[in-house]
Amino acid sequence: MAINPQSIKPPANLVPRNYTPANGRKYPVQIGDSWASLAATVGRSPWDLIRYNYPTLPLDLQLPAKEVNWYLEHYVGCTMLTPDGRNYRFSPPGEIWLPNPAAALTPDQVAQRLVLSILREPVVRRMNFGVGFLMISATYYEDIAKAIEAGKIVVKVNPALRNLAMYYGASSPARIELSPTISDMGLIVHECTHAIFDMRKLTTNVEQSEGFGYLSQALYGQLKYGPSARYTVPFHWPPFSWISWQTIFDESTRLAAVLKTSFWVSEADAARLFGAFKNTRGGGYDTRAGKVETNDGL
Ligand SMILES: [Zn+2]
Repeated sequence: MAINPQSIKPPANLVPRNYTPANGRKYPVQIGDSWASLAATVGRSPWDLIRYNYPTLPLDLQLPAKEVNWYLEHYVGCTMLTPDGRNYRFSPPGEIWLPNPAAALTPDQVAQRLVLSILREPVVRRMNFGVGFLMISATYYEDIAKAIEAGKIVVKVNPALRNLAMYYGASSPARIELSPTISDMGLIVHECTHAIFDMRKLTTNVEQSEGFGYLSQALYGQLKYGPSARYTVPFHWPPFSWISWQTIFDESTRLAAVLKTSFWVSEADAARLFGAFKNTRGGGYDTRAGKVETNDGL
C-alpha cells in the first residue's frame, strides 16, 4: 500500500540530506517509535523535534505534516504506514536527529549567571555615585560583567561563606566567591565594587574601598526596593565593636539616600562612614585601616 497522495508533498524549501543540526546525535529509529515518544525522551514537544530535524518546514499547520512524510519516505526510508494510510511510521534502518539533553549547569556556572544577572539589572545601570574625588560610573559594572565573561574574573561557590560573598583581587585570575545560600544581592554588588577598584587600579585605603563597598550595597538596595527598615547589627558579635558596625550600616543607608538623587557627597559627608572601619575590632578592616592599598588590575 502506498501513502495517500493527499498526505505527502515535496518540501518547498528542501533541507539538504546531509543537514546536521547543532548539538545533536543520530538516532536509529525502532518500530514503535513516534515523534511524540522520541521528543518526550529529550524533553521537547513533537513539533520541536520535527523542526529540529527539518528547520525549513512551513509555519502553517497543514503543509508541514505532508512535507514531513516526504522526508520520512526519501531521507529516513520509511515504508510502514499508519492504519489510515496518511502517515509514515518509523522502522529500521532509518535515522533521525535527536538533540542532546541540555547539560546541567555546575554550581559555579549557576553562581556566575547570578552575578552577571545582577550586574545587568536596570537598577545597576543607574548606579552613578561618588565621594570626594572618587567616582563610580554605572558603566563600570558592565565592564565587570564583560571581565567575568572573558574569564578575567572567575566566580566560585564557597559554602564556608555562610550567606556572604568575597572578592579576591590578588589571585590570578581575580575571583568572586559566593555562598550558595546568598540572599542579599547587595552583597554581590558590594564585591563587584571591589572588583571595579581592582580593575581601575585605584590606590585607596580600606576606609574608601570598604566605604564604597557598603555604599554600593545600600544604594543598590534603595534603588531596587526603596527605603528599608533600619538594619540592626546583632549584639552577640564579640569582639566586634557593635557601635562601629552599626555606624557602617546606618551611615551607608543615610548616604545612599543622598546619592540616589544627587549622585555625589563630599569626603566630609562620608567621614563618619569612612572613620568607622578603624574600630570594627574584627572583620579585618581595623588592621588595614589607614594604610595605602594598591590594586594590580584584573
Ligand atoms: Zn568589602
